[in-house]
Amino acid sequence: MARKKFYFDTQTYSYCPVQTDWKKYLIQIGLCLVLAFVCSVVAYDYGAQFEASALIRYNEQLSGQIAAKTVKLQKIEKSLDKIHHNDQTFYKSILNLKPIDQSVWEGGTGGTVPFASAKPKPLQKLDQQKEKLKFKFNLQESSFSELQKIAVHKSDELTHIPAISPINGRIVSGFGYRADPFHGHAHFHAGIDIVAAMGTPIRCVADGVVRVSGTPEYGYGLQIEIDHGYGYVTKYAHLSSMLVSPGQKVKRGQTIALSGNSGYSTGPHLHYEVIKNGTKVDPSAYIYQ
Ligand SMILES: [Zn+2]
Repeated sequence: MARKKFYFDTQTYSYCPVQTDWKKYLIQIGLCLVLAFVCSVVAYDYGAQFEASALIRYNEQLSGQIAAKTVKLQKIEKSLDKIHHNDQTFYKSILNLKPIDQSVWEGGTGGTVPFASAKPKPLQKLDQQKEKLKFKFNLQESSFSELQKIAVHKSDELTHIPAISPINGRIVSGFGYRADPFHGHAHFHAGIDIVAAMGTPIRCVADGVVRVSGTPEYGYGLQIEIDHGYGYVTKYAHLSSMLVSPGQKVKRGQTIALSGNSGYSTGPHLHYEVIKNGTKVDPSAYIYQ
């Protein structure tokens, strides 16, 4: 049974029962509930904001990691493209192999990416980049395996194919049409010109036998021609001195002459030609960097 409460009335000097003010009581409960609701809303909002800023920070971290990985993959791809370029222009050229078609090389889309649709776009892009790189690696690996097999069978031929620069110096004139240095009119330049000081040693670019050593052609000055076999002949012109004679066997890297300015020349340089099966070809394709 609830205990009844009294208060002392100073007007009447007697104890009177306390009357419960239900309206006031309900208002107080209502105010408490409203206060509790407002507090919970504020707490929830603060929590959500805290969570959102943590997510933003995490997202920024992930974006940074993806960007760094993308740059790293791009660098690897660039190096791989360089190796591929050497393979196409040098190795395949000297072994007479068909180069890989550029559209095949660039066509490595990598097929399907597992759960691609469930991943965010930057991650999908990264996966595609990785798959493309993997495709290029596999293609290049099989190309090198093929080259290795052929090179083993052609080891003798390889020592007879021009493969190094005949002299240390800068190429100042390339293979093809150019203005004649003396008359100015268009003229086909059948070799490359490498500028070098008088008396710079000239190396033989592959094993072979000296075919010419003298001045057999007007304009070339002192010149040497070497027959390497397998359809290859190399020519070195405008020399100052010749260190080999016809019939002599020479090895790749052996010094065969000294550079000069003899014949039809505007300054000290070496004119170098590569002749393949009777046709003059661009010697720069036979200089391994
Ligand atoms: Zn020249």
